[in-house]
Amino acid sequence: MPRSFVNAARAVALASTLVFLGCPDQPTPPPATTNAPPAATNARAPIVPRVEVADWCKEHGVPESICTRCNETLIPEFKKKGDWCAKHELPDSQCLVCHPELKAKLEAMAPKEEKK
Ligand SMILES: [Zn+2]
Ligand SMILES: [Zn+2]
Repeated sequence: MPRSFVNAARAVALASTLVFLGCPDQPTPPPATTNAPPAATNARAPIVPRVEVADWCKEHGVPESICTRCNETLIPEFKKKGDWCAKHELPDSQCLVCHPELKAKLEAMAPKEEKK
């Protein structure tokens, strides 16, 4: 068998392989998608919320209505406003690490409770 023929055959075989591998029309199985909503983000919220007199998150020392740690759906709102500390994953206006002076302000906002 002439050597040139072998080389040509190899080239054809190689070309076919490349075409096969690069074929864009090759059907791909659709990714397994579910219509289920993304995992609940408020999994940490108590199932039966306690009735608080004031709008206050005692755990995090901020008003509950703006507590991103209890309600992660608030995060995009803060990010949109540019009020976000990416380093500490907190609204900048609630980040006591970056703004220690906020502590006094937040403490002043906290509802007074009688400790027994
Ligand atoms: Zn909280
Ligand atoms: Zn910070």
